[in-house]
Amino acid sequence: MSKVRHVLGISGGKDSAALAIYIKTKYPSLNLEFYSCDTGKELDETYQLVQNLEGYLGIKIKLLKGAENSSEDPFDHFLKMYGGYLPSSNSRWCTKKLKLDPFEKYVGMDNVISYVGIRGDEDREGYISTKKNIQSIFPFRKNIWSEDVIAKTLSNQNIEQIISYSKNIDFGKYQNKVVQIISQKIDASFTQIQKLNVLLDTDVKGFNQLVFDFLKTTDYPLSKEDSFPLLDNEDVLVRDDIFRILEESGVGVPAYYNKIDFAINGKIGQYSRSRSGCYFCFFQQKIEWIWLYEQHPNLYKKAMEYEKDGYTWGQNESLEELIHPERVKQVKEEYVKRMERNAAKSKSPYLIDILDDEEGIGCASCFI
Ligand code: SF4
Repeated sequence: MSKVRHVLGISGGKDSAALAIYIKTKYPSLNLEFYSCDTGKELDETYQLVQNLEGYLGIKIKLLKGAENSSEDPFDHFLKMYGGYLPSSNSRWCTKKLKLDPFEKYVGMDNVISYVGIRGDEDREGYISTKKNIQSIFPFRKNIWSEDVIAKTLSNQNIEQIISYSKNIDFGKYQNKVVQIISQKIDASFTQIQKLNVLLDTDVKGFNQLVFDFLKTTDYPLSKEDSFPLLDNEDVLVRDDIFRILEESGVGVPAYYNKIDFAINGKIGQYSRSRSGCYFCFFQQKIEWIWLYEQHPNLYKKAMEYEKDGYTWGQNESLEELIHPERVKQVKEEYVKRMERNAAKSKSPYLIDILDDEEGIGCASCFI
């Protein structure tokens, strides 16, 4: 029996849902556990997605809750504890209390591989647990390893050790080239990222084997595994692939991504929500708040009720101010102008590529 647990978190967003389908289909031998952290404040579409995935995967997704013994929703429980102080991008107590803490409690002291759905067309790491017993793997990227693993593997101090491991790996016609690359020290003229990219471009599978062999000398969870099927993974999945996986599987794209037309000054714009998470999430763009106001007025009203004692979700204006007709008109006009500018630049056939230029802001726990 494996000494390591393999876990995959479903945030309610498209990428983690597609990752669940991808991994389950491509690596059926992995004994995966699926979990989702429930803040109590998700959109109905998120709960629907979790249900669809359960049907498709034929498994139960474990719902984790912060303050699980409280009679209140997890968010409300902690908001009270924080004296009504609403979370913000500078003070994100919600992510810690509602996502990270329940996850780390669920994992306990077990050695865990956590699969994270950051795509090959994204330039971010997302949340990486600082707990030593949790190792993140990124199957959608060419580089499946986390930054800390790469930094250790490619460290100048470990060059001799890595060269000796490389001799036991079959790099075919690139055997000498790989030794040459590894021998080259990282400095200002040859950075870690450059070294990594050259090695990945030369032989992804061989490089993955090299990292795996090196990890055997460390305390990382993967050091406890005899083999790891993702060492052979050469796939790079980008946004179009995510939509394709969700559509072809029948699980479907979360409904909040569906674009809805609105008219402004004789022009037609389209809005939607660009990510999962709590309906009142402070990472929302103004136009997403307007979408919530017009498409889910009850949720907007509830979000407004949290704004009291001087606390607001946005920095410069309250939700009450945002829905003055003149302000709504201004937000829509500015948004349509931005869409037009971006559409001129974008070659993508997907509207979401034009709209989601701020998708990368936020955290892996809530939005992937
Ligand atoms: S979705 Fe937004 S509000 Fe909800 S826990 Fe995540 S960061 Fe906080």
